[in-house]
Amino acid sequence: MTLVYVALGANLAEPEQQLNQAVAALKKIAVTGDITVSSYYRSTPMGDVVQPDYVNAVACFNTHLEPIELLNSLQNIEQQQGRVRNERWGPRTLDLDLLLYGLHIIDIPRLQVPHYGMKERSFVLIPLAEIAEDLILPCHQALKSLLTPEMQQSLHKIPNKS
Ligand code: ATP
Ligand code: CA
Ligand code: CA
Repeated sequence: MTLVYVALGANLAEPEQQLNQAVAALKKIAVTGDITVSSYYRSTPMGDVVQPDYVNAVACFNTHLEPIELLNSLQNIEQQQGRVRNERWGPRTLDLDLLLYGLHIIDIPRLQVPHYGMKERSFVLIPLAEIAEDLILPCHQALKSLLTPEMQQSLHKIPNKS
């Protein structure tokens, strides 16, 4: 059994409901259905594509799935919620990124864990810190050491997520 962290993001078709639906789907792959979910946060999109703001969150749960099986499950959930792959960092109904798979370091063509962008992305680090403030990353860095005051200002917690 492995403790995993997954980043959730959506900016189309009622993003908050997309996240609610994704959390319900993740519960089905979590051991005993136990899952911890951060607050939902509103963030400005990365990159140059003009698109709506995102709603982001991070979820944490135990799983018996192997890393590739877990990635397949995450991509199935994205597909079920109508994800269409167009331009890089373009708008989407749901994005599920595997941030951490226990303390494992994975580097295979379809999967790199820890997720390559997580250390720089406020919309990942802040919800992650909300549910795991004392987390130490596989590289031995403390999560807290990555958080800057600018990051805190760039995100807005959405009240009453459900
Ligand atoms: P970014 O990866 O910069 O956040 P993105 O989430 O928009 O961008 P996607 O189009 O969702 O990128 O994914 C592209 C590919 O990334 C996927 O097909 C998947 O095989 C690969 N990938 C590699 N590592 C991971 C990971 N840790 N979690 C999810 N997908 C990953
Ligand atoms: Ca992503
Ligand atoms: Ca992704």
